[in-house]
Amino acid sequence: MGGVWGSMMNNKCPHCDGAAMGVLQKATRGFWKNYECDSCGRMVRLARSGIAWRVVALVVALVVAIGSSEAAMAADSAMDDTTNFLLFVVTFIVVAAATQILFVPVVAVDAPVSQGGQPAAWHPDPTGRHELRYWNGFEWSETVSDGGVESQDPVT
Ligand SMILES: [Zn+2]
Repeated sequence: MGGVWGSMMNNKCPHCDGAAMGVLQKATRGFWKNYECDSCGRMVRLARSGIAWRVVALVVALVVAIGSSEAAMAADSAMDDTTNFLLFVVTFIVVAAATQILFVPVVAVDAPVSQGGQPAAWHPDPTGRHELRYWNGFEWSETVSDGGVESQDPVT
């Protein structure tokens, strides 16, 4: 996952710039939880501004269902309330998932939770750009190592 689709998805991890989660996860995850980035394992969550998109989905689904209900009444058709309710539910789920995938950015969780407490040491670089990166006991430092040669490259 990358390129145009990757950037359209708003799926970039704020820590490592990699893909933070899969499409289905991006579509369905809640705003109130923290998740580990698929690429680097550090904690991310969906921006809470995404709640506004849930409201948009709700309004769109209501408009669609009410429109359908009125059209059915005008045509004196047999389309019943159950059908209109299902239309409402399906529209809500589809619009909520699509807007969450496309418009809700992945943001960093402030406290370094997943690696917290681990002692300072060299580990394989979570960004994949270098061989090793130094974990300073609190967060990934900008000190990296390739073939035994140290250099500086900030995580973000
Ligand atoms: Zn990451």
